[in-house]
Amino acid sequence: MKILSVNAGSSSLKFQMYEMPEEKVLISGVFERIGIHESFYTIKINGEAIRKEKDLPNHKVAFQYLVEELEENHVVERLDEIKGIGHRVVQGGSYFDKSVVVTEDVIKKIEELNVLAPLHNPAAITGIKAAQEVIPNAVQTVVFDTAFHQTMPEENYIYAVPYEWYTDYKVRRYGAHGTSHMYVANRMNQILGREDTKLITCHIGNGASVSAVVNGKCLDTSMGLTPNAGLIMGSRCGDIDATVVTYMMNQLGISAQEMDNILNKKSGLLGVSNVSSDMRDIDAGILEGNERCELVKKMFIRRVIDYIAKYYVEMGGCDAIVFTAGIGEKSVTTRRRIVDGLKILGINLDEKANGIRGVEGKITTDDSKIPCYVIPTDEEVMIARDTLALIP
Ligand code: ADP
Repeated sequence: MKILSVNAGSSSLKFQMYEMPEEKVLISGVFERIGIHESFYTIKINGEAIRKEKDLPNHKVAFQYLVEELEENHVVERLDEIKGIGHRVVQGGSYFDKSVVVTEDVIKKIEELNVLAPLHNPAAITGIKAAQEVIPNAVQTVVFDTAFHQTMPEENYIYAVPYEWYTDYKVRRYGAHGTSHMYVANRMNQILGREDTKLITCHIGNGASVSAVVNGKCLDTSMGLTPNAGLIMGSRCGDIDATVVTYMMNQLGISAQEMDNILNKKSGLLGVSNVSSDMRDIDAGILEGNERCELVKKMFIRRVIDYIAKYYVEMGGCDAIVFTAGIGEKSVTTRRRIVDGLKILGINLDEKANGIRGVEGKITTDDSKIPCYVIPTDEEVMIARDTLALIP
């Protein structure tokens, strides 16, 4: 059965088509600069990458090209072979604790949550509507970044602010990257050969978050109302004293929107180093003796260790720690420094094993009290799996 996994941004559309349940990727690609000049798309099929410059005024046109490519490349002979389309949605609020089939009510609820994800939720709806128009026979589903975290207990998601902010304005911790945390937690349980586990999953990419997962369910996570909480990220500040925000708005005479932009786009690795939001550039800066690159790397590592320590205590132990996403999968030095900082827990790095990049493997010695693993994440296949499960 053919299932399409879709991630629509405001000007982009990423997709992967799977043969399910085998989970074989048949074709994948991305449409870029939709609604902007010089739009184009790239597709990967049979190990080959093809790029085409095309006018892409909106997401519907992108889907039409997608269908054309599927047919020309004989991925499908008829459109009705596509049985399901799963859409990634960033914010599902308290409404959704699992993936669901798209209905009018579902769309209304996602729209209601636009205020909490002003860039992402409207884009997802645009993607859903375009897919419905172009591929009407497929079952459309939505998979939420927040759903996995809905099992958190109240004390972990209520903020210590006036309670009415929660009841009247939906202010609470929702978390994000849930599909990724769930994927690596499931895979970790498979490797351990049991489900009754306490795991700490570290999704460390440009965006970064840590989750505490008990028996496959989220107990706590570091992102908050929005992704700008918890860890230090490429250009996001993560946890800071909330009063810094109002103090600096007064000092600089800037609006809430300008402040939000600074905290999300000009902070984190970029803000402190003034070099880059990309960990590879920070590492290169360190090698050149740039002190602020070293400073922000120390801060970054410290914060990850702090969250691991917090969740270790919160769960009353830990059976495995997982690293995933760009930095978690590929940055050997970052993993080394994090794991070295966990020695007090009896965790011992295996230097040689830690040399892996982008592949699954254990990176601690056999006598390490808690094993640490690299597990490449795969949010797209999770979307395809959930969609398959929802097809009647
Ligand atoms: P996104 O959140 O945008 O999906 P990714 O998961 O792709 O981000 O992670 C991007 C981050 O991964 C960047 O900071 C990048 O520097 C880092 N990264 C990728 N490859 C390497 C590498 N080989 N060494 C160190 N960092 C890497």
